[in-house]
Parts: sequence; C-alpha cells; structure tokens
Amino acid sequence: MNRAIASLAENRGIFKEARSIGRPDDLSRALCALELTPPSVILSHRGPCCLTAYSWFSAVARGAAALHPEGPSWINDIWQWGPTHWPLHWCEVAAADVADCGALACLAALAFRAAGESVLPAQLLELYDESTIANWRAMWQQDGHNPQWLFGCLAYHEAVAVVRRPKPGSNGRLDIRIWDPTNSRWLEWRANGGYGTSVAVKVCDESPQHSRLARLHRFVWGGRLVSPNRWAILAERRDVLQTALQPTTKE
Ligand SMILES: [Zn+2]
Repeated sequence: MNRAIASLAENRGIFKEARSIGRPDDLSRALCALELTPPSVILSHRGPCCLTAYSWFSAVARGAAALHPEGPSWINDIWQWGPTHWPLHWCEVAAADVADCGALACLAALAFRAAGESVLPAQLLELYDESTIANWRAMWQQDGHNPQWLFGCLAYHEAVAVVRRPKPGSNGRLDIRIWDPTNSRWLEWRANGGYGTSVAVKVCDESPQHSRLARLHRFVWGGRLVSPNRWAILAERRDVLQTALQPTTKE
C-alpha cells in the first residue's frame, strides 16, 4: 500500500496536466479511479479444468502464429467483444463466446508470446462521442454489469504493447506497437484527435527483472515518450479533445 501511495504522490503531476485539457473532470476522475487498477489477469482453478483450457489455447496460439504474422486476429473469430464476469478463469474463457477487452488482451498477449514476441499490458483512455458511450453503457447494464470503465466521454481500454528489439544507440528507448485486441488492429496515435483518440496510455512493466530497469528505459509510441508504469497524457492540446467531441456535444 505504501508503494501505491508513493506512486500516487509521484504521479500527482498528471492531475495538474489533466486540468489543462478540455473535459478536465472526466479525465481527472478516470485517472483517479484507474491509478491503482492493474491490467486484467485470467486466473486458474486448482485442478485440471484450467490447465486443460490453458493448454488448448496455447496450442491453438502456437499453430495460428505462422498463419497470422500481422497479429492474432483469429481471436476475434472465436470470441465476440462484450461484458465479462470477473474474476475470470481459463476454463470459463474457453467455454465463453464473449469476452471484454481485458480478457481479449490477456488472450492476445499469450498469442503474441507464442509467436515469439515480447509483450506488456497496455491500458488506455480513449475518447468517444456521447451516443457511442451511451450504447456501451446500455449494453453493460442490460446484462447486469457495472459499466465502471466509462468516464463521461472517455472509455478505459486494455490492449497489448509489443516491444521491438532495441536498436544500437537507442539510449534506453524501446519502440512499441499497441495491438487493439477488440478490433484486431494496430492502434495509431493520432495527434489530430477524432473518434477513439487515445487520450492517455500506461504500459505496465512490473516484472522483477524490469523493476530496476524501469527507471532507465522509456517506451516510444507514435513518436511520444511513455515511461513504464505511469499514465502518460497524450492529447495535450485542448482543441484535440474539443474537436473530437463537437459532433454530439451540446455545450
Ligand atoms: Zn477452471
């Protein structure tokens, strides 16, 4: 807990930054709520149920890797995006037809690892118009789920950061690509905003071998520097958010 509080204190700067962006309340509220939210993890029951399910998925992922060099788009052929009950276990995933972005990100990460890639969980805040957010809220509530991933016009999203091998002279900077497991596509950071703009990103790298290195390396996504384990605000210009919101905003 001390570590969590230290992290909150250290990251206080992002709340000040959030105030300079349009919709400061949504962004501040989201960052506050998400500061201590770890990326989703699929759990295993003791016993053969989850071991069998995990082995099945790993075998499929290994087989599919060579057929899908562009990324594990085959996952969306098996699981449709929708609400998931958490905590989630491997045997439940294997039997489900629907998975949320947290579950899909776990599956995609495993698939990338099966293809020999180095991956880390990525958390995002994305900007959408009010009608899209209202549809998603209704979709979750209809199923008896709490749409706690929605903050005004911002949606929390989970994805997979694929880390490229460092180039000589990269000075601790590691290029990443971010795979959106819900839509099976690479996310591009666009400075001009618009539907689905990534407003903030956090790449989580808390493995013991990286904790010491975490202070030394930075990730680079779309030309933007991102420190490990900290939310980075990407859309620093007020007009980016306001332009994106204009079509449906009544203010
Ligand atoms: Zn199980």
